[in-house]
Amino acid sequence: MTKQSWRYDHLTWPEMKAAIARDPQPVVAIPIGAVEDHGPHMSISTDNDILEGVLAECGRRAEGDLLVLPVIPFGLDEHHMDFPGTIAIDIQTTLAYLSQVAISVARHGFKHIFIVNGHGSNASICDLAARECVLKTGSICATTTVNAAVSPALVADVLDAERQGGWGSVGHACEYETAMMLYLHPERVEMEKAYRDIGQLKLKYFNWDYPEPSAYSWQDWWSAFSKEGICGDAGVATREFGERMFEVTVERFVEMVREFQRIPVATRVDHH
Ligand SMILES: [Zn+2]
Repeated sequence: MTKQSWRYDHLTWPEMKAAIARDPQPVVAIPIGAVEDHGPHMSISTDNDILEGVLAECGRRAEGDLLVLPVIPFGLDEHHMDFPGTIAIDIQTTLAYLSQVAISVARHGFKHIFIVNGHGSNASICDLAARECVLKTGSICATTTVNAAVSPALVADVLDAERQGGWGSVGHACEYETAMMLYLHPERVEMEKAYRDIGQLKLKYFNWDYPEPSAYSWQDWWSAFSKEGICGDAGVATREFGERMFEVTVERFVEMVREFQRIPVATRVDHH
């Protein structure tokens, strides 16, 4: 692979030193994904493939305002272990590993760090790792995602307006993730095996799809509610929808990087 100027780990240390000294300083993205089942129709690399594909284009288009670390490929995944191939790292190990990556970046002087989560169950750990980085270093470390199945906040308007499957279609190995893979890696998708499976509950106070709020949440073992690792409507996914979501995600993510990059680091006051 040729040297990519947006890849954090492709820089030499003198180039890194110069990047740290730039004003405004680049934002550093730390992606963390998973290796886990994504239905009978997609490879178990799907979460990492989406992270890598979207962040590579964000890095190119951000023109020096974003440095992207290699994807941390494993996360909290015990609840998927009934499906062959899943790699499960426990909560404490994932939190320790991720927070130490973020703290390392901050110790070199980077002030704005994005933990970019590609796998829903890493979310709480990402939040805690970011907190730990803020408290230990004073840098601003935030969590976000480029995968709308993890959190749709960045692109919810487009996702809602243009998805075909209606309520519940976007969850996991779903309409969104299948469409993204049809765009990024069609060779890893077998559409003849893709179908609709919405095993999750929809009750008065509980549901797992947006935009309706859920008053409580929990995560069950995946094999308890999903037949083959799909939760959503994989069958209606199209490459065109994937391309549309890819484009809007990249455009907004780069804009968000530039907003985040300019947040000043506030000064603490010791009132003792
Ligand atoms: Zn996924």
